[in-house]
Amino acid sequence: MTRNFFDRLPPVEPSTLVGFSGNSLDRRSEARNESTFAAALADPTARVYLLRGDEAMIRAGGATESLFSLKEAKALGAAMDDAILLGWENSAPRIAAIVGSDTSFDVDAFHAVPLRTLAINAFSGSILADTVEPATLGALAQARALLHWHAANRFCGRCGTRSTMAMGGYRRDCPNCGLQKFPRTDPVAIMLAVDGDRCLMGRQARFAPGTYSCLAGFVEPGETIEDAVRREIQEEAGIRIGRVAYHASQPWPFPMSLMIGCIAQAISTDIVPDTEELEDCRWFSRDETRAMLDGEHPDGLSTPPRMAIAHTLIRAWVEGG
Ligand SMILES: [Zn+2]
Repeated sequence: MTRNFFDRLPPVEPSTLVGFSGNSLDRRSEARNESTFAAALADPTARVYLLRGDEAMIRAGGATESLFSLKEAKALGAAMDDAILLGWENSAPRIAAIVGSDTSFDVDAFHAVPLRTLAINAFSGSILADTVEPATLGALAQARALLHWHAANRFCGRCGTRSTMAMGGYRRDCPNCGLQKFPRTDPVAIMLAVDGDRCLMGRQARFAPGTYSCLAGFVEPGETIEDAVRREIQEEAGIRIGRVAYHASQPWPFPMSLMIGCIAQAISTDIVPDTEELEDCRWFSRDETRAMLDGEHPDGLSTPPRMAIAHTLIRAWVEGG
């Protein structure tokens, strides 16, 4: 009998269950040339996503909409000289631009909503104001991450000359030494360590009261994802880890990370928390964790909201073993 490698995977790809995934834009990054961006701007179907720091501009009221015409974008003070071409949606160009934080606008007509709030609302299961479609969240995450990358990479890393945007925002070129730089994303390992029927969660002081979550940290140069998981849990909780299994990933545009979610097998149980990082860290039984996920914990303890990959990891372990 032929064994199918994919039979052991979950029927629904777990990364589709998190906020900021589901980006359906056709990026065509390999097919772009120097005239692509000008052609996109001249296309009457082109629309613009407007970002203001970690906030997205959306139309207020009724059907929430986050796409603006070029004319509207300019009227709202968008910096179109630094705009980037995200890709195409059914052949219609999708552009992203920054609106200055000091820009004034009609607050009855437009809202500036934090991307986190949009994601929480989109995955809340309720009809809320200031909500966008999950696919739109993906495009906004791409926009936020790319705009940040350009803002943080204005100069050539080799010779220090001011670099210029190319390929509609998919490259920066140095006019002096010719160095080409491509947009980067920062990998972060986020993991739920488990010991049989209990899991390890911690809380940072900045978390909402009562919220516990997975541990996480940047993957360092020269490290596998599995090694990063083992190192982070050892550093933050003093727990030794054996096997590590990848589960899901999440674009996380604060400012430009990719969260790589794993389940990790604990092989020691005595917690030695890093008190610089964590306010508390402890083991939770499966039943207690389920109550936290469902908002039914007797002491009001909870997990991150559904849109967060931490929620997806915790739920996968609670429900799947
Ligand atoms: Zn240079």
